[in-house]
Amino acid sequence: MTGWIVAILLLSGLIGLHLGWRRRYRSLELAQTVKPAGLTDALGVTAMFENMAEGVLVTNQKGIIEFANPSFCKLFELADDPKNRTVMEAIRIHEVYELVNLLKQDNQVVQEEIMLPSLNQQFLQVNGVAIRDRNEKYRGAIFVFHDLTRLKRLENLRQEFVANVSHELRTPLSIIKGYVETLLDTETDTESLPHRFLKKIENHSDRLTFLIEDILTLSHLESGDTGLDQREVNVSQLAEGVLEGLHEMADKKKVELKNSVPVNLTLYADSQRLFQALNNLVENGIKYGGACVCVSASQSDGELDLCVEDDGPGIPAEVCDRIFERFFRVDKARSRELGGTGLGLSIVKHITQLHGGTARVESTLGQGASFHLTFPPHKPEAAESQTSG
Ligand code: ADP
Repeated sequence: MTGWIVAILLLSGLIGLHLGWRRRYRSLELAQTVKPAGLTDALGVTAMFENMAEGVLVTNQKGIIEFANPSFCKLFELADDPKNRTVMEAIRIHEVYELVNLLKQDNQVVQEEIMLPSLNQQFLQVNGVAIRDRNEKYRGAIFVFHDLTRLKRLENLRQEFVANVSHELRTPLSIIKGYVETLLDTETDTESLPHRFLKKIENHSDRLTFLIEDILTLSHLESGDTGLDQREVNVSQLAEGVLEGLHEMADKKKVELKNSVPVNLTLYADSQRLFQALNNLVENGIKYGGACVCVSASQSDGELDLCVEDDGPGIPAEVCDRIFERFFRVDKARSRELGGTGLGLSIVKHITQLHGGTARVESTLGQGASFHLTFPPHKPEAAESQTSG
């Protein structure tokens, strides 16, 4: 009897063990069939990518596409899944191919704006990041593509609107100025009320003219359709020209102007634009500065630093970062009184950036300000390919 009981218990134990193992095996088998291979699955976000409005692309360590979501295929008008092809084979966009290569070494998130070579001028922003394993070994990269076309169009419309309005305002303003000048010529009594009123109208029309000219310059620079006419420019001679043009203004304010730029220093730049930037800085030095404004320049590792320094009241440290923003003024009333538009430094920054450089200010309140424009070394091949492209 006990033998029977032991046998039944043994049998049911064996059956339980068998069923248990079978269930476990089945689930393992199922897991293997549903577990998609590759990087996207390691991240476990395939389903989320499938439904994103942004294009998503995942490449492996060899730069072969492992995954592309439907939005990516739509953006690049791909008829079939680009999986197992290289980026160049699939979309033929050189900038993306370069990003794939860059990410093999770079651990940062990289960003690039690209224009698709289609007729309807589509703009995309690409953000990419490398995927590395625990040992920092490169496993591939993941890219997100945002369609910027609508934003760009709106931005262009805004720029066009501003440029058109400013342009339309020019003609009536010059007519007003013309009439005011004629009336002023006839009103010889400078103390009379009409003369004083006319003088006020003249001043305000001048301010409006400066503002319109600055807005037009900025929208021109921003639009990017003003190519730079770059050639070797002698910086000392350019600075001399700027100081000569402003010496009358400086004399009136009893400001000394100094040119300390080494005589043989040259910069590959658009001389007219550079003149404008330097002119704005020196003019500000005279307007807001103290007794002396000095232009200097130095070169190290091919980088050229152009500096305009004054010994005036300086700029509060907390606004030094904002000083190049348009319409930003430390003292609004003073700027207006001195005929400022609030756009001068913004123009300086744009011109410097168009040359691939950066603009910054160093200042301690009460101890003057020095504005630095730093330009990268000139690379002839890069510049030539830009002009031919
Ligand atoms: P604005 O037409 O008002 O001069 P800018 O863009 O040229 O416009 O300058 C912005 C503001 O920066 C000025 O309003 C002034 O407050 C300040 N600023 C510019 N240059 C100097 C300087 N050299 N010293 C002190 N403040 C300055």
